[in-house]
Parts: sequence; C-alpha cells; structure tokens
Amino acid sequence: MSQILSRYNLETDIQYVRGIGPDAARKLHKLGIYTLGDLLFYIPRRYEDRSNFLPINKVSPGQIVSLKGKLISLDSRQVHGKTLIIRAAISDGSGAIGLIWFNQKWIRSKLSTYRGELIVYGQVKEGQWGYEITDPEWETIEQSDDPQDFARIMPVYALTSGIGQKTVRNFVRKGLAYVEQLPETLPDSIRKTWNLKDFQYAIKQIHFPDSEEDRLAARRRLVFEEFLTLQLALLDKKSKEGLEEGLPFEIHHNIVETLEKKTTFQLTKAQKRVISEIFADLKKPHPMNRLLQGDVGSGKTIVAAAAILAAAGSNFQSALMAPTEILAEQHFANLKDLLEPLGIRTELLVGKLTKKEKEKANSEIATGKAVLAIGTHALFQEGVNFHKLGLVIVDEQHRFGVMQRGALRAKGFGNPHVLVMTATPIPRSLTLTLYGDLDLSVIDEMPPGRKPIKTHWKTPYERKSVYEGVSKLIDSGAQIYVVCPLVSESEKVLAKAAEDLFKQMKDLFPNKNIGLIHGQMKPKDKENAMNAFRKGETNLMVATPVIEVGVDVPNASVMIIEDANRFGLSQLHQLRGRVGRGDQQSYCVLIGEANTPDSGARLRVMVETNDGFKIAEEDLKIRGPGELYGTRQSGQLELRIADLIQDGKMLEEARRAAHQILQADPQLQNPEHRYLLTNMQQHTQRLTKTDVS
Ligand code: ADP
Ligand code: MG
Repeated sequence: MSQILSRYNLETDIQYVRGIGPDAARKLHKLGIYTLGDLLFYIPRRYEDRSNFLPINKVSPGQIVSLKGKLISLDSRQVHGKTLIIRAAISDGSGAIGLIWFNQKWIRSKLSTYRGELIVYGQVKEGQWGYEITDPEWETIEQSDDPQDFARIMPVYALTSGIGQKTVRNFVRKGLAYVEQLPETLPDSIRKTWNLKDFQYAIKQIHFPDSEEDRLAARRRLVFEEFLTLQLALLDKKSKEGLEEGLPFEIHHNIVETLEKKTTFQLTKAQKRVISEIFADLKKPHPMNRLLQGDVGSGKTIVAAAAILAAAGSNFQSALMAPTEILAEQHFANLKDLLEPLGIRTELLVGKLTKKEKEKANSEIATGKAVLAIGTHALFQEGVNFHKLGLVIVDEQHRFGVMQRGALRAKGFGNPHVLVMTATPIPRSLTLTLYGDLDLSVIDEMPPGRKPIKTHWKTPYERKSVYEGVSKLIDSGAQIYVVCPLVSESEKVLAKAAEDLFKQMKDLFPNKNIGLIHGQMKPKDKENAMNAFRKGETNLMVATPVIEVGVDVPNASVMIIEDANRFGLSQLHQLRGRVGRGDQQSYCVLIGEANTPDSGARLRVMVETNDGFKIAEEDLKIRGPGELYGTRQSGQLELRIADLIQDGKMLEEARRAAHQILQADPQLQNPEHRYLLTNMQQHTQRLTKTDVS
C-alpha cells in the first residue's frame, strides 16, 4: 500500500499551517509550540463538559465546578486606594453565584458592556453574601462562536499572557485539519495486541472528545506510545552497552564466606541473592550496568565489599564514590577495617586532602598499590589515573542527581563494571523510567533483629516535653541526633542554625556531652566530632542535614528533627534511617507544624510507615516526578502526556511490548517499525542532549 506523500509532517514549522502564519506562530512559540507536532501534542490541561453544566443551586463549598449563567451584576471598588476589587454575579435560573477578581481592570472593561452568558470555572467557597468563586477562569459566549462549542466536551489549554483560550482552540483546529495526512506510527499488530486506537482518532479525540470514553481511549493510545518510545530507547541503549567489550572477572573463592568470617553477622538471604546477581554480571565479557536498590539500613555496603573482593581477585582496582566527604570517610574507615586484612589496600581521595596527601594517594592509585579508592567527585577529576580499574561503585546515586553514568567511563578507564546503589527506594514507575537501561537488584529484606523505629510527630509547643524525655533517654545510655532546621540551601546559614541549636542544647543539658557537626567545620574537626560520636563519648549530636546520607552509628537510637515540616519526605526517611541500625528500640521525633497541606501530609506519612517504598510512592504523589531526586532536568521525565503516578500500569505494558518488539526485530528494520525507529532515535538524541548538562 502506498502512502500519499504529504508536504506536512510533525516537524513542519507551525507558521506554514494554513490559517496560522508568522504572527500567530510567534504567539504559539510562547507556549513552546514550534512545529505541527508540538501543536497536535499540546494536550489540554483539562476538559469542560458543556453538555452537562451543574445547576448553580447544586454547588457546595469546596467543590471545583464549571458553571454557565447570565451576567446579572457587575460592580467594582478600590480599597485603600490600591486594590481594585471586581464583583460580578451570574444566574442560571436555578440560582446565582458571586465572582471576584482583584486588580484586573481589563476584566471590568470587558464585562461592563457585556450582556450575555458566562462560562466560569473555579472553586466554590462560602462568602459574605453567599457562595462565590474567587479568580475564576471565564469565557464569554460571542455571536461568532460556534453554538456546537457550548454543547460538547471542550478542551481547556494552559495559556500564557497574550494568548487566549479561544485562540489556542482555534489554532489546534487548524492543526487537526492535517491529521489525515499524517502516518500511523504504531504497527497494526501492536495496536491489536494492546488494544490501542489509531493515531488520527487519538489526536482528534484527545482535543475534542466525543465522550469521556473516547477521551480515555485516545489518551491510552498516546500514553502507551510515549512510554513505548521511551522504553525502546532505554532497552536499545542497554543492549548496545551489553555488547560492549568488558573486563570479565574470575571468581573462584567463596567471597561471602570470607566476609562472614570478618563480620559479626551472617548475610541475609537478600544480600546473598544480590551478590550472586552481581557476580554473574562480573564474570561476563561485557560491562555490568546494575542498580542496587535497598532501603536505608538494608546493608548495601557489604554487598559493595563483595564486588570489590571479586575485582581484586582478578587483579582489578575498584573505585567507590560517595556524595559527601563524611560518607566517603565513613566508608573508608569501615572498608579499610574490613578489607585491608584481606589484602585490599585502600586509599581515600577527598577535596580536603593537602596537596601532598593528594599526590601520595594519586600515585598509589596510579601504580596500582591501592586496590580500592574511596572518595567524592574528587575521584573523577583530572589527575586521577587508575592502574587497572575494573569496577566503579556509586553510592547514594540519587544524591548526584541524574548524572550521565557514562561519564564515569568516559574518563578513559576502558570499560569497567558499574554498580550504582541507591538507598532511596523509588517507585517502580520511576525506576523503569530513570534506570530502564540498567539491570536491577533489590535488597528486599532487613537484617534480622531490627525493631521498627517508633515515630512521633510533635508541635513546637511540645518541644519542652520532648527534650525532657531526651534527658531520661541519655541517662539510660541512648545516643541522640538532633537535626537543625533546614533554614536555607546555603551551608553557611545552616551552619549558623546548627551552632545556635548547639548552644541551646548545651544550656539545656549542662552535664552531658554535646557534639556538633556541620558542613562548614574544618575537616579535621568534623572527623573528630564523628569519631567521638561513634565511640559513644558524645551523648547528643547536633547536626545539619549533612548526616542525611549513609552515616552509620548503630548505637544511635534517637533522631530528633527540628522544623521537620521543612524537609521533603525522602529526606526525612533518610534522616530517620540514621537510627534503628542496632538491636535496641529506636525513636524518631518530628517537631514541626503542618503549615501547608503538603507538610502535614508528609509528617503523617512518616508517622504511619517505615517502608521506604511506600514513602517513595507517597512522595511521588505529593511532589510529582519532576521534583523528585534531583531529576527535574532529566529528559526521561519530560513526558508530554503520560503521568508516572496514574499510568504506572501502562508503563509496565509498554516495557513488555518494547521487549517483544526488540526481540523479534532488534534493529527495528522491519518497515512496519520504521516510525518506532525514528521516534526512538529522536528520543535518544533528546536524552543525550539533556544528560550532558
Ligand atoms: P545501607 O544499605 O543503608 O547502606 P549499611 O550498609 O550502612 O546500610 O548497613 C547498615 C548497618 O547494618 C551496618 O551497621 C551494617 O554493618 C549492618 N549490617 C549489614 N548487613 C547486616 C546483616 N546481614 N546482619 C546484621 N547487620 C548487618
Ligand atoms: Mg549506605
């Protein structure tokens, strides 16, 4: 069957669309619309069912409604010579409702001569004179409007200043005139298997749906295609990387046994399972690309140690990168203890080292004397050369934001195996999106004997009684963290807050040993402070959120978080994870007020559950994917239609479809896959562009 070749495709510049032209195109640019594709995929923000307006006498406060009624009054006044308050009312025969706008003169001039009906949208509340809507969205009904438009489901688009709702609708209609000339991008077989509507139907119905079912069916098709493209790109990347030449290790001796001899505990089943998954990769002649997920305290470090031993057994060096110096130092202290007796010489490379120390570390790493290098970003700076690097481990990957994992390799190390670890469990939909090119291992079990942390939420008025309780806990031998409020992004300001809190604590507990740690302290002082706490000499440690990640002092059993309402959920979960690491009962006290609905929701979630995966799901719901885990700039999360929260199931389906397609046609050479191929390539291009920054 031959396709009629059209001059128009999704890349066509918007100004060439009949009825748009250069002037209108400039307006559309403000909405990020440059091509016909951008226009057709400019998905409505919401819809208005105009065949079915709610009668005004049926509304109740709190409801978000669309209403239609005749403008029956308009009145405005200036308050304190400044604020202009415009009050209007509409009536539909069943009842009337008030409308209020502030400081928008143009609304007054527009409505003062208007005599017809208005369509309004907004939240109803109880006002002085009855129900009203403040700052409603609104439209007039003009002679020139198609009466049809007031009897059907209408799209409502996001706008920006200088471009109105009717204008955008009008342009979208002009774009839709070309839909029939555009090709179907999904093969018939896929549409059949996954029950998906065709492209033309989907694009038309997503803008002007005939019914709610049609809208949902259209959306389903478009979401599926968007996910499919993303998953094809990720799986393609994965399979290409999986073919690269790597450094196969030989693993002879029983590493797990060796490690268990050196620790006081047995590894959990989950730890053993992920170790064997990792070993299976390390033996392959291709580089490992694996994500290790496990909740805070699940014991990821020892798994990393096993991989390091495997590398060393084949005479390869390992590099372990941590997001903070405190964590790098802790890993250095622990792993040196654990591994040096096994012949793994370990070096620390962090920013604070003197030039001389750095040179020494560098030379040990370059000659291969050091088998394990632990550090921060400093590890991957110029001047660091490895003798024979076989394994790169990135701890707390989420703290690095979405960084180009390939950048680790690009440092001229050849093709080492890569293991990224993350303590923040993330919802599966995000894992598939952000890490869909990695293999996944999950530690889904906590070491035995851990008691769930008891979490309490207290208001600032109860602060006094909280600290009275603390005094008793210290007397019974507990070690306590108090985290100062997250007053600012600035380390300096945070340090000041920590110092203030430190003074308060000293006044409050004159007979106890109070410690302090913050990012602005001299490295040596930081180290001393951490060591004193580790040894049990410090009773109470005042800290900035720098201790958030990774810090492991099993004897610490109480975590107090001041102004907890300022922290995000994953941060709270991480902070809480600093306790509950030993066998004693641990507590977390969140001090804070629910000053916004979100902060209240976060604190409640913390009290309700210790389960990192549940918390991650809630976090995704409260904040949305873009705000999570520093992923805002990630190209993978720039979804036009799909929503990672509500469409998780479809993402799984698309992943399966992508697997099936690539299995049958790895290069996407089958002509019916040609549009999948172009879409995938475009997506890959976008990803590389955004990742480089
Ligand atoms: P995370 O996964 O948060 O990085 P860590 O590796 O820091 O966790 O481990 C947390 C604590 O649990 C450490 O003190 C570690 O020694 C201990 N641990 C790890 N594995 C086990 C186990 N199988 N049994 C008992 N304790 C363990
Ligand atoms: Mg850790």
